[in-house]
Amino acid sequence: MQTSNLQTLPVAIIGSGPVGLAAAAHLVKRNIPFLLFEAQEQVAANVKSWEHVQVFSPWEFNLDAATVELLEESAWQYPDKKALPTGKELIENYLQPLSELPSIAPNIRFGHRVIAVNRKNLDKLKTRNRERHPFVVQTSHNGQHHHFEVRAVIDASGTWQTPNPVGSGGVFAVGEAENFSKIFYGIPNILKENTRRYANKNILVVGSGHSAAQVLFNLSELTDSYPHTHIHWVIRKGNVKSIIGGKDKDQLPARGAIGKQLERLLEEEKLQLHTGFHLHQIGEENGQLTVTGLQNEQNMVIEGIDEIIACTGSRPDFTFLREVRLDVHPVVESVTALADLIDPNVHSCGTVPPHGAVELQQPEKDFYVVGMKSYGRAPTFLMATGYEQVRSVVAALSGDWKAAKKVNLVLPETGVCGAPEPISKLKVLTNACCGGGTLKKKNVGGCC
Ligand SMILES: Cc1cc2nc3c(=O)[nH]c(=O)nc-3n(C[C@H](O)[C@H](O)[C@H](O)COP(=O)(O)OP(=O)(O)OC[C@H]3O[C@@H](n4cnc5c(N)ncnc54)[C@H](O)[C@@H]3O)c2cc1C
Repeated sequence: MQTSNLQTLPVAIIGSGPVGLAAAAHLVKRNIPFLLFEAQEQVAANVKSWEHVQVFSPWEFNLDAATVELLEESAWQYPDKKALPTGKELIENYLQPLSELPSIAPNIRFGHRVIAVNRKNLDKLKTRNRERHPFVVQTSHNGQHHHFEVRAVIDASGTWQTPNPVGSGGVFAVGEAENFSKIFYGIPNILKENTRRYANKNILVVGSGHSAAQVLFNLSELTDSYPHTHIHWVIRKGNVKSIIGGKDKDQLPARGAIGKQLERLLEEEKLQLHTGFHLHQIGEENGQLTVTGLQNEQNMVIEGIDEIIACTGSRPDFTFLREVRLDVHPVVESVTALADLIDPNVHSCGTVPPHGAVELQQPEKDFYVVGMKSYGRAPTFLMATGYEQVRSVVAALSGDWKAAKKVNLVLPETGVCGAPEPISKLKVLTNACCGGGTLKKKNVGGCC
């Protein structure tokens, strides 16, 4: 296929989360045809799975500018800028209306799970004239395989659907798979449809991020009505300092409040905290689980557990990208250019310099990983980051490199960063904490 024909093909977007839909809006704005593939039968299926959770960033940080412009051409009302939506409200008041716009709806293919991407007639090894071959996106839909030829691919498929196991080494603990029926990966709706599952039970929560905090708050609320509910909280960290975060110093007050509320739960002894716990084994006897691990080099056993809730983060799925030339960081599994800035070994905050198509470019021309997935296993991604990513990527795909390179994003800072003092000795970054120099941008604000 000649390059001229190639340019008439649509751009493929994988995933209809906030970032995939924002990419669609930017493509509409630039009159570029596109197809958006969504694995599930509904828009923003990952957000749907945590629809009962209130986000910590207010509406003004959750809306993409191009999407707002499109929506304002319809009867849509801009929500209260300062209000904090739940996942459900994000979908109902923003993502769903966006997906239903006449300029977007006909291009969405619901129930099409992308199972492979390749260059037409070329495997990964073939280099000659590679860039002149279109991509082929293969999807599985109602048990049948479909092939779509496209000129570029924006992978916004997130990570939430591929959770990490609870085993401390990043692999399933012994007995984990055998006890799946008693393990929930994610954030169950404890106060509504899952109440019976958790009321008056012994529950073990594993993980130290915002998802774990949310689960702990809901469980503690459950104990008000069901006082025999007992909560164990298992974390690998030696203490809760970095989990508590910047509190009042956080520029997103709702995010800062999470740390304060956690502190309160600990003070009130509403939960039993197990720090430095590395979970190795889950056994089952008479319907109850025994969890074994290593705590400060000692064997530790927690008995009589009815349910485990795993909030151990998630990881990107690269299986459908085997034939794409990808540059992914060996540690973080993020786009390589971002890794030093978001590596959870060093940073606990999500403040990164603005970045776009230049940093997100893959060795496979016109293939981009964006959104939550661009952060790999790092948990600090914010929607606003993804919106600026796709604005820039779409500008690049339209040939407007001037706009693509002019990236601009100010993220609310957490007020605390996990970067240890002697960071320069680690030689991870050249001159700063989270807003550091790796991306070599001038207008970078440090986070700490
Ligand atoms: C509980 C929770 C609270 C959060 N709160 C905030 C907050 O307050 N502020 C903030 O800025 N960020 C927040 N985030 C982080 C982040 O912004 C969200 O996770 C956001 O949904 C990421 O958007 P995304 O479009 O990159 O991916 P996702 O929303 O995960 O969307 C990915 C989509 O791709 C689809 N998909 C996956 N694989 C395939 C495939 N193979 N083929 C086709 N489709 C596929 C999925 O079904 C899904 O619809 C939160 C995250 C969580 C989990």
